[in-house]
Amino acid sequence: MEKADITIIGAGVIGLAIAAEMAGQGLNIFVLEKNPAHGGGISSRNSEVIHGGLYYPEGSQKARLCFTGRHMLYEIAAKNSIPHKKTGKLIVAVTPDEIEELDRLYKNGLQNGVSSISLISKRNIVRIEPNIQAEAALYSPETGIISAHDLMNYFLTQAVNGKVHLVCNTEVTGIEKEADGYQIIARNAKGESFEFSSAVVINCAGLSSDTIANMMGGNYKLHYCKGDYCSISGVKQAMVQRLIYPVPAKNHVGLGVHLTLDLNGRYKLGPDTTYIERFEDYNVAPEKAAQFYQSTSKFLPFLKEENVHPDMAGIRPKLQGPNDDFCDFVIQEDAPGFINLVGIESPGLTASPAIARFVKEML
Ligand SMILES: Cc1cc2nc3c(=O)[nH]c(=O)nc-3n(C[C@H](O)[C@H](O)[C@H](O)COP(=O)(O)OP(=O)(O)OC[C@H]3O[C@@H](n4cnc5c(N)ncnc54)[C@H](O)[C@@H]3O)c2cc1C
Repeated sequence: MEKADITIIGAGVIGLAIAAEMAGQGLNIFVLEKNPAHGGGISSRNSEVIHGGLYYPEGSQKARLCFTGRHMLYEIAAKNSIPHKKTGKLIVAVTPDEIEELDRLYKNGLQNGVSSISLISKRNIVRIEPNIQAEAALYSPETGIISAHDLMNYFLTQAVNGKVHLVCNTEVTGIEKEADGYQIIARNAKGESFEFSSAVVINCAGLSSDTIANMMGGNYKLHYCKGDYCSISGVKQAMVQRLIYPVPAKNHVGLGVHLTLDLNGRYKLGPDTTYIERFEDYNVAPEKAAQFYQSTSKFLPFLKEENVHPDMAGIRPKLQGPNDDFCDFVIQEDAPGFINLVGIESPGLTASPAIARFVKEML
C-alpha cells in the first residue's frame, strides 16, 4: 500500500462522515474496516433518532455537536433524498416528581440552544396524542428519525467520489510512531500482516477505539453497555404519531425505555441499559418483553403484554462506568497527527456531520 496522507480506522457513521468531509482535496485517504463491509458496527444497531440535544450538560461536546449535527443532518437528508422524518417527540411525566424533572430538562434544553421545546399540559397532550397517558410532557418538535444505512451510504459515496479508498476485511493490529507520521500494522482477510505509513491517523473504531488509542500510549477504558430492543405487533400504526420517552434517570446512562417509530411506521421499545463484559453479545433475553411492557405500559396504556417481542440489541461504547457521572465524547489529538474519537455513544449518529467538521478543523 502506498503512503497515506490520512488513515481513518473504522467505517461506521463517524469514520465515513469524516472521510466525506476530508474528500476531494487531493489527499491520499484510506478508510480501514475490519468487517467485510462498512456500517456493520454500532451504527447499524441503534434507534436512528435525530436527537434535539436537550439532555446533555450545557457546554459539553455532546450538547454542542448534537445541536449543530441535527441542523446539518436535516439539511443533508433533505438535499440528498435520505429517508428521514421530523416526527417530534414527547418526554412524558406520570408522577409529580417526574414533572419537576421535566422542568429541569426544559431549562437544560433552552441552555443548550434548543429553543423550539415547550412544556405541555395534560389537556394539550390529549389533543395531540390521545392514546398515551401522562400528567405533563416536554415537547421536542425538532426530534426525528433517519435511515442510518442510507446516511452512511451517502457519506461513503461522497468520500469515494472524492477519491477516498475504503479497504474492508482489514483490521488494524498495531501502530508505531515514525519520523513523519505513523506506521500502521494491519491484517487482511487471509490473516496476512502488512504495514504502511500514514502522516495522520484518525481513530473511529467504535467499540475498539480505546484499544486503538492505547496502541499509541493512551489510557482509555470503554465499558460496554448493552441496549436491548423489543418489537411491537398488533398495535394500529396511527395509535401514536410521535416518539414517546419517559423521564430519564438523572445519571445520563440512558434515556429510559421508550417508544420509537421506524420509517415504515413500525413501533419498537428500547433500548434499556445493561453493563456487560467486553464481548459483543447481541442476543435479547425472552424476559425483556415482560420487563419492557411493565416499564412502558404506564404511559402507553393501549399496550398488552402479548404485543411485545424480544428483537435486536446494540452496544454503547461508554467511557462512563456503572457508578460514574456523565462522560463527554473524547475527540482529541493525543499525539501530533493522531486523533482519537473515543466514547462516541448517543447522540453520535445525530452529531456525525458536526463531528466530521470539528475533526477537519482540528487538522
Ligand atoms: C443502543 C444504541 C442506540 C443508539 N441510538 C442513537 C440514536 O437514536 N441517535 C443517535 O444520534 N445516536 C444513537 N446511538 C449512538 C450511535 O449509534 C453511535 O454514536 C454511532 O453509531 C457510532 O459510530 P462509530 O462510527 O463511532 O462506530 P461504529 O459504527 O461501531 O464503527 C466503528 C467501526 O470500526 C471498525 N473497527 C473496529 N476495530 C477496528 C480495527 N482494529 N481495524 C479496523 N476496523 C475496526 C468496526 O468494525 C466498525 O465498523 C445509539 C447507540 C446505541 C448502542
